[in-house]
Amino acid sequence: MGRPDAPPPRSAVFGRSMGPPLPVAVGGDGCYLIDARGRRYLDGSGGAAVSCLGHSDEKVRAAIHAQLDRLAFAHTGFFTSRPAEELAEKLVAAAPGDLGHAYFLSGGSEAVEAALKLARQYFLEIGEPARHRIIARRQSYHGNTLGALAAGGNAWPREKYAPLLTECSHVDPCFAYREQASGETAEDYGRRAADTLEAEILRLGPESVMAFIAEPVVGATAGAVPPVPGYFARIREICDRYGVLLILDEVMCGMGRTGTLFACEQDGIAPDIVTIAKGLGAGYAPIGAMLASRRIHSAIAEGSGAFQHGHTYHAHPLSAAAAHAVLSRLLDDRLLDAVPRLGTQLADALDARFADHPNVGDIRGRGLFRAVELVADRETRAPFDPARKLHARIKAAAMEEGLICYPAGGTVDGARGDHVLLAPPFIITEAQ
Ligand code: PLP
Repeated sequence: MGRPDAPPPRSAVFGRSMGPPLPVAVGGDGCYLIDARGRRYLDGSGGAAVSCLGHSDEKVRAAIHAQLDRLAFAHTGFFTSRPAEELAEKLVAAAPGDLGHAYFLSGGSEAVEAALKLARQYFLEIGEPARHRIIARRQSYHGNTLGALAAGGNAWPREKYAPLLTECSHVDPCFAYREQASGETAEDYGRRAADTLEAEILRLGPESVMAFIAEPVVGATAGAVPPVPGYFARIREICDRYGVLLILDEVMCGMGRTGTLFACEQDGIAPDIVTIAKGLGAGYAPIGAMLASRRIHSAIAEGSGAFQHGHTYHAHPLSAAAAHAVLSRLLDDRLLDAVPRLGTQLADALDARFADHPNVGDIRGRGLFRAVELVADRETRAPFDPARKLHARIKAAAMEEGLICYPAGGTVDGARGDHVLLAPPFIITEAQ
């Protein structure tokens, strides 16, 4: 018998990786995670931009306990619940534009699936059944379930499952470091990138296009890539011109991560549907949400009367109670107010340490959502050979030093390099 906390040499848990066993996480203390050997890790990325309140928030824990003592579960086919109602009200009150209704799920991929299905049903309800095509962007990630995976703009995660996936177009991302031409202004570049959407709508035939989906600040795939000014205003304009729904995927960049509750607020636009997850439950409970405009909701409410979707754990009371407490911490306790200042400190610190490093190509992001892109050659911006798996080595080395960061690999075609994503909890201190 080994130590009770140590994973057996071959764990019965079907993990992400089948490599060597991982340390066993047994505790959380503010911005730190603690493993079974008592090692403490500073959580510099909130896992993958999840733990925005750290790992031991008293108010969130108390809210979950109180809800558990009242009611754990009531099937949403029969009941709504107080925490789900309160959470929805608080979210839509803070949401931009016409977003007036929240639909709760268990995570980000489910939220994206629901958004795509809602878009399709909306067009059926309003008598435009030919609209079914989805346009997304290269260098994006929308989740691992089949619909969300099809929308993702990275070829390799889709390859093995290609026969199972819906056809989806991928237009240009807005990725200034990699795609803005020399001598081109940011505005001109943003317009050029956005206009690839218009070209694709026209190629497919506007009457067949249902939705465009994009992350306002691109997360895991490309590493905290913010849009250039004016890009999303142009995207909104193009979607409106052709009657295409705009779905913004804020699963990673939403919930205050970039300094405003919704990242798109900083681009001065509102989507028809937005998806959020990670920071919504902040790691205390699995929850995602899709917020839809009143216009979409009314079309269905006054049409067939039901969104043809649903999961057993949709709007789970414990998750909703956790998320309501998280949102209250961000808004009522004003934790969100610290994000722009902390984000600037983090950006300044990264610049001071790494801006002149020969293998740092770009340092970018918004709020507490930052990334460093690594290159073999700063002049040509040539990435390292992905076969070197630099990102995996950085992750291991950082953990060895007691730091959790979130590195990802570059692409085989050299379209981007390895990067390291940082997304610390909003309670992080300057010293940490
Ligand atoms: N959308 C974006 C932008 C994401 O970053 C992710 C996860 O990283 C997802 C969707 C999928 O979310 P989940 O892993 O909760 O299913």
